[in-house]
Amino acid sequence: MVTTVILGMLCVHLLCFCVMFLLISTRLNGKKMGMEVFALGNLLLGLAYILQLLGGPAGWGLMSVVNHTLTLCAPIAYVLGALRFFDRPTPVWRPLLTVAAGYTAMQVLVQTTLGSEARHALLAGSCAALFLAMALAALYAGRAVARDLRAEMAVFAVLIGVLGALNAAKLVVILSGGLEALDLNSAFQRTFYIYMSFLGTVLPPCVVWLVLRRLTDELRSMAAHDPLTRVLNRRGLMEGLEAHFRSRTAGPAYLLIVDIDHFKDINDTHGHQVGDRVICHVAQVLKASARQGDLICRLGGEEFVVISLDTTRDGALQLAERTRAAIEHSEVPGTSPDRPLSCTVTLGVSAGLTSAQALDACIQQADAALYRGKAAGRNRVECVHAT
Ligand code: GH3
Ligand code: MG
Ligand code: MG
Repeated sequence: MVTTVILGMLCVHLLCFCVMFLLISTRLNGKKMGMEVFALGNLLLGLAYILQLLGGPAGWGLMSVVNHTLTLCAPIAYVLGALRFFDRPTPVWRPLLTVAAGYTAMQVLVQTTLGSEARHALLAGSCAALFLAMALAALYAGRAVARDLRAEMAVFAVLIGVLGALNAAKLVVILSGGLEALDLNSAFQRTFYIYMSFLGTVLPPCVVWLVLRRLTDELRSMAAHDPLTRVLNRRGLMEGLEAHFRSRTAGPAYLLIVDIDHFKDINDTHGHQVGDRVICHVAQVLKASARQGDLICRLGGEEFVVISLDTTRDGALQLAERTRAAIEHSEVPGTSPDRPLSCTVTLGVSAGLTSAQALDACIQQADAALYRGKAAGRNRVECVHAT
């Protein structure tokens, strides 16, 4: 009786969260992060448990076969949803239908050759292997593809790993105690469904938390980056600089202001779209010329700032000259091969920067040097204390 109530509540949970996942997925236009597939997984598992409630004692029959197939397909749907969450676009219906057809055929084969007990043992064994593999995959994901979600993946691994262990125990119970062991009133089944009910309550909010984290991380990243070039914007630059100077061992930084020469002419001659491509090209060259960890920012229009961290004045001047030459000698990709387009830049280099608060003053200094470079003929590097 207790187990029946728990199972009933579990169905309600699964179906409610199925609707919630669907509602969330309708709000996530374009990138649904697997939420619609998680909803499908909950629906399949909810239906499986409804059949379990209606089906009565374990045995052979159409309802039981469908129940087992749905029970196995549900975690497969969760895996496919997780792949989509981690930006691995994957088909859903074909693998699910293939597993459903294959597992149904296997059930018929096992039932006719080895009997009902073996068919139930097959489900417990398959689920044990699947959940243990999912737990290991969650641990791997936390170390490899989703390091920012390491703690969350560890929690998932433990929760799913325990479910794998419970299914392995169920396999042993069936093999040693026969089908009576699957009676809903048995102590094992009660423990099993209490844990399932716990998972049905805890896992969906965890999934919603993951989606929320992804969304807020994306928002933060969007707020810190320039949409055209994907380099930092001024806000992102300030955040990066503050993070650098928070470190006790932070050395001085030097600021380079980079302005494309005669950019208005490029726009006027080739059009605004080509102008945008030139801006993106310059951003790419700046990224390639700077050292790993240096901050690259589009200040606006055709003006960029590069902040070289932990460097010397000579290092900053070398970077400026390297960047200037790289831009002068490169062609803008995507322009006609007969009439390759290139551009030049003028750079102003500031004095050493030792705190994030000095950013505005440094930009002004570097701007003054840049202005001198423009006046002196462009395509050159000028430093604040030029000799
Ligand atoms: P100088 O060598 O003195 O720097 O001359 P310039 O022509 O590069 O400088 P100016 O400031 O006169 O022109 C900048 C132009 O950049 C004017 C503006 O229309 C254009 N611009 C600003 N933002 C964008 C953008 O996002 N895309 C494109 N294509 N053009 C932009
Ligand atoms: Mg310009
Ligand atoms: Mg300008």
